[in-house]
Amino acid sequence: MGKLYGLLGHPVAHSLSPLMHNDAFKDQQLPYHYQAFDVEPSQLKQAVVGLKALGVSGFNVTIPHKVEVMKYLDAVDEEAKIIGAVNTVVNENGTFIGYNTDGRGYLQSLLTIANDLSDKHVLVVGAGGAARAIVTVLSQHETKTLTITNRTKGKAELLADECRRKTAIDIVSLAQAAENIAGYDVIINTTSVGMSPNIDDIPLSLEHLKESAIVSDLIYNPFKTKWLHIAEEKGATIHNGIGMFVGQGALAFEKWTGIRPDLKRMEEVVIKHLGGK
Ligand code: NAP
Repeated sequence: MGKLYGLLGHPVAHSLSPLMHNDAFKDQQLPYHYQAFDVEPSQLKQAVVGLKALGVSGFNVTIPHKVEVMKYLDAVDEEAKIIGAVNTVVNENGTFIGYNTDGRGYLQSLLTIANDLSDKHVLVVGAGGAARAIVTVLSQHETKTLTITNRTKGKAELLADECRRKTAIDIVSLAQAAENIAGYDVIINTTSVGMSPNIDDIPLSLEHLKESAIVSDLIYNPFKTKWLHIAEEKGATIHNGIGMFVGQGALAFEKWTGIRPDLKRMEEVVIKHLGGK
């Protein structure tokens, strides 16, 4: 029997989620459909109530509804509660359960190039919504050290305090992070600095970057940010935001269907749509 899945956001016209999920349904020969719904913030409650009345099987939630939607769900899992946002909802026998697959999707993608983080000094740049998902998951994963830097230092401190972790999370200023950049093995930009149209901006100087570092940017528009170009020129391994986007989508797909989709194919569909590398 056909099932309906969706995306609630505002705006959603440029989202690549319908393309990615509908292709994955086709690949798995599932007669399901994924539809994006542009929902004004004032209409969010009605939209969630409506989806439940219609028996929709699950949906994703994107900007600006990820926090607000939690109020209208029947339950929210522990990790999403710590992150403070939901990006995936599953209809479990008529109840809507909220999850957050952003952090785990990111981590799975990072681990395909970093293998093991237990011997790595990890630096997260930024302390906004995406950083919350990533730091929450990283703080439950073994890293040698975990450091956050952010323009507004207070937000980094708040995030570190909220993440339960056996060892402390260090907070440094952007200037300190840039000065000590050679001390980090994995550097992750979670800020919007460098995103189109401000493609000449970089979030942090990489002047003293070491060649063996992994430099990861959550942005995928542009596909390779100026920051990643600089890192590549310095010999570092680079990783863009496509992996997180596909990773979070694959985990949502798995929660909805119980099937692990073909990640490579999902990535190819997205990259092709964006015009290739
Ligand atoms: P957000 O909650 O608004 O957080 C923005 C972050 O960027 C904050 O840390 C903010 O610092 C910092 N920032 C913004 N402008 C800055 C500037 N001019 N100088 C220094 N820092 C600045 O946004 P978000 O939802 O976390 O998204 C952040 C980025 O991640 C976006 O580019 C988004 O597209 C990307 N993202 C990618 C994926 C994916 O699947 N690949 C998923 C989610 C997000 P302050 O705290 O000082 O304001």
